[in-house]
Amino acid sequence: MLVGALSHQCFHFVDLQVLNSSTDLSAYLRRCAGSTCPLCGTTVKELELIIDDAEAKGLRSGDSPWNRGAEPTEGFRRFFADRDTGSTRFQGVAGILRAQVTGSEEARRREVCAALSEKYRADVAFNVALSALEVGDTSKARRALQVCRESGDDHLRASAAFKLGETYQNQGDQQVAARWYRAATQTETRDIRAAANLCLGIACRKLGDLDGARRAYEDGVDCGDTMIRGMAAFRLGTVYEELGHTAKARETYEFTVGLHDEGASHEAAVNLGAIEESDGHWDRAKSLWEYAFETEDEEVKPHAAFNLGRVWEHEGHLREAKKFYRIAARTSDPELAARARGYLRSTSRVWPDGR
Ligand SMILES: [Zn+2]
Repeated sequence: MLVGALSHQCFHFVDLQVLNSSTDLSAYLRRCAGSTCPLCGTTVKELELIIDDAEAKGLRSGDSPWNRGAEPTEGFRRFFADRDTGSTRFQGVAGILRAQVTGSEEARRREVCAALSEKYRADVAFNVALSALEVGDTSKARRALQVCRESGDDHLRASAAFKLGETYQNQGDQQVAARWYRAATQTETRDIRAAANLCLGIACRKLGDLDGARRAYEDGVDCGDTMIRGMAAFRLGTVYEELGHTAKARETYEFTVGLHDEGASHEAAVNLGAIEESDGHWDRAKSLWEYAFETEDEEVKPHAAFNLGRVWEHEGHLREAKKFYRIAARTSDPELAARARGYLRSTSRVWPDGR
């Protein structure tokens, strides 16, 4: 079986070999660990074996001449189960190896390693990054993701930039996160572009860059990705409000409410209702808040309830108002809960319980 070894330090192929048994494999791993990468000179500490998909199938079915010596055949199972050394299967590896492995003097070896690295390292690096993120090894993940950024594959490059943004956002470094999210927006892949714009907007907003947030959310809406569009549109509405563009905010909230359950339509209905109320359109506000109250979202529902309480109070139906204030008072949001309790008390003074 033809095996390539890829270093997790530099994500280059550092060696390749024909192996025929578990004993060969163990010796090979020992030889590779601590060796020097022929392409960049880094010392190999962790490595991954790359084998051809067709050969892996051969191993599983027993058609491959693996362990055809004195050893028991189950030896190769450890090849797949070995957690210290991952293995990745790609199609076509054997082809590259087979064509060039003969006469593997140093220069040839270097050449083949370079060819394999160019073809496969970014894909391997992305998987390594995902595994590293899963176990919380951020620095390894970032190193791997930087390798993906050198890929010629637009989708992979953008995915890596997005993941890099996430690692910085998780650490609260919005400045660097925004930079990576902005890089991720430069892709032809719509869902990544949309998500990157949404996250870029959130980062800009946290940095106090309202105009940057507005542009990012606008682009997020324009992507037309149905998963992201509503979320970006709702946030865009809040930015317009903050910038004092009430007409634009109203229009954007209307659009978001119109998307129904696609995005943040209920949140948008809460905010749009507040704009309608301030314009004296109580009926329109009420129907929007009734719509928002239908949500299952435990963060949004209490806001809708509180506002509905105010509508009923405004209309003089205090018993109905109290019912909604009570619902709002049960929220985990302490500020809203306190407001709802305050309104509940003042309503109760007008209509004491039992009356
Ligand atoms: Zn290297």
